[in-house]
Amino acid sequence: MPYICKCKAEIIWMTALPTPRNPNPRPNPIEVKPHEKGNLVIDRNKGIYRFATKTEIEFARRENKNLYISHYSNCPFSKDFRNREKK
Ligand SMILES: [Zn+2]
Repeated sequence: MPYICKCKAEIIWMTALPTPRNPNPRPNPIEVKPHEKGNLVIDRNKGIYRFATKTEIEFARRENKNLYISHYSNCPFSKDFRNREKK
C-alpha cells in the first residue's frame, strides 16, 4: 500500500535486494512516481528494489524513461524517516 508522506509525496516502503555488503537491508521509502534522476529499479509486487546498473540508467535516459528514487534524498522531512527508523 502506498503511504503519503508529510510532503504529499506517495511512497512505498521497500527493501533492497540483499548484497554481500548489506545482507540484511532495511526498508526504505521509495517514491511511487518515477524520477528523472532516478537510479532504482523496483518490483512493486515483491516490495524490493535494487540499484540500476550504469547501462540501465543510460538506457532509461536515452529512452526518456525514468527510474525510481529513494524519498530520503528528496524529502524536506527526511529527518522524520531517520527518527522513525530508530524506534
Ligand atoms: Zn516526503
